[in-house]
Amino acid sequence: MAKSTEEKFLDRSYPEPNTGCWLWAGVVDPSRNNYGRLYVDGKMESAHIVSWRLFRGEIPEGLVIDHLCRVPICVNPDHLEPVTQRENNIRGISPAALNYRKTHCIRGHEFTCENTMLIKDGSRRCRECLRRDHRREYENRKHREYYAKKKAERGGKYYINDAVYQEKQRCKRET
Ligand SMILES: [Zn+2]
Ligand SMILES: [Zn+2]
Repeated sequence: MAKSTEEKFLDRSYPEPNTGCWLWAGVVDPSRNNYGRLYVDGKMESAHIVSWRLFRGEIPEGLVIDHLCRVPICVNPDHLEPVTQRENNIRGISPAALNYRKTHCIRGHEFTCENTMLIKDGSRRCRECLRRDHRREYENRKHREYYAKKKAERGGKYYINDAVYQEKQRCKRET
C-alpha cells in the first residue's frame, strides 16, 4: 500500500531541539526559496503547505503560508501563519529578513565563527548541519515517538498547537 501523506511527512522531517523548527530532510527546491517539496496525490507541493493542511486544515482563501521563524525548510505548523501575499512580500524583503538570510543557514543555525566552515570557493557550510545529518535518524525516531504519543492521547487526532486544540474542544462542548 502506498504511504499516506502523513507517513511521508513524518519520514522526511525531524525536530531541531534548539529552535523548535521541524526541518525538512526531503527534496528542497532552491528555485522556490529553498522550500521543502513533496509529492501529494501525484502533484509536487511545498512541504510547509502540506504541513498546514495536515495539521490545521484548509488555507484561508486569498492567503499564503508564511514562516514566522524565517527558516524556509521548517515545516512545524506552530511556526507557520497564513498572511496576505502583500504581507508576505513585505516580510520577505524587510531588513530583518535580509539580514537573517546572511547570518543564518537555511536550517536556522547562526553562522558564528565556530559554526562556519569556509569552502575554497568562498561559500560557507554550517557545521551544525553537518553534525545533525549524522543524528537525523535518531531525531526522526524521537519525532515519531512524540507524534504517536500525542496522537494517542488525543484519540487519533493530533493538533500540535495546544491553544488551537483547546479551542476546538471548547467549541465542541458548547455546540
Ligand atoms: Zn521553524
Ligand atoms: Zn545549519
